[in-house]
Amino acid sequence: MLAELSPALIAEVELAAKLLTSKQHICILTGAGISAESGIPTFRDKQTGLWENYGVEDLATPEAFTRDPKLVWSWYQWRRQLVADKKPNPAHVALAQWQYHTQSSNQSLTLITQNVDDLHEQAGSMVTHLHGNLWHNRCSQCETACQGQSRASYHSEDTINFDDTLMTCPHCGGYIRPDIVWFGEALPVQAWQTAEDAAANCEVFLSIGTSSLVYPAAGLAQLAKQNGAKIIEINPNPTPNTIVDITLAEKAGVIMPLLIQKITAL
Ligand code: NAD
Ligand code: ZN
Repeated sequence: MLAELSPALIAEVELAAKLLTSKQHICILTGAGISAESGIPTFRDKQTGLWENYGVEDLATPEAFTRDPKLVWSWYQWRRQLVADKKPNPAHVALAQWQYHTQSSNQSLTLITQNVDDLHEQAGSMVTHLHGNLWHNRCSQCETACQGQSRASYHSEDTINFDDTLMTCPHCGGYIRPDIVWFGEALPVQAWQTAEDAAANCEVFLSIGTSSLVYPAAGLAQLAKQNGAKIIEINPNPTPNTIVDITLAEKAGVIMPLLIQKITAL
């Protein structure tokens, strides 16, 4: 794997490792790109098959759910089916190892994700979800969390039931919806507070696999920078993020294990 990386990129990884070990407060933001190597399509990947003719406005907004709850529910059941067998890749695993490693040090490492999959948790990380969790549901009317709809409960069935029949709330009769932040909706208050605090107080902000296009999450790097943090970005493609100090232009699954290997060796 190492042989594929240019000496210049390896030197940048070493620079990043030195920076990350020399500072105490680290904030990490992950996006869909970190799960791409696990086989979960990113947001900007084209939808295929059944759903290719639908846009975000048909499937991931509160208006879409009001207009056609069955269509939106069916899409989420389909997405759950798509990610049900997906496993963490070396980037998720390396992050979890690093988090474990810092428990016995004086470093604080806060992991924030825009992803709705649970691959960080599967790898053993503690993570704050900014955009909700694909495996959780709640009532669209009274907001009550709908128990028994975790990933574990889906898996506990002999055959996983991805039935697209709408469910109703036992308390108020409203339709059950996925506990996801849709476009035009506010982020969960507690999660956003955690993210803002971590970004404002960190000395290094590490952005992994995010296009930096979806706000307010994309503003976290700017907040960190304004407060004096250095910014490291891992993304094989260029992003509009102009405040980056160290760019590691490779896949997260290639860079992260190497970066963590260097960090833990220092
Ligand atoms: P995005 O799709 O806008 O951007 C993904 C970024 O990842 C791109 O910049 C791409 O160049 C980069 N990338 C692709 N492969 C990579 C790899 N192997 N390693 C590192 N980077 C790689 O995703 P976003 O910035 O997270 O924002 C889009 C929104 O879509 C988020 O709100 C998120 O909740 C949602 N989403 C989540 C998932 C998931 O949970 N896995 C999947 C799709 C979309
Ligand atoms: Zn209800």
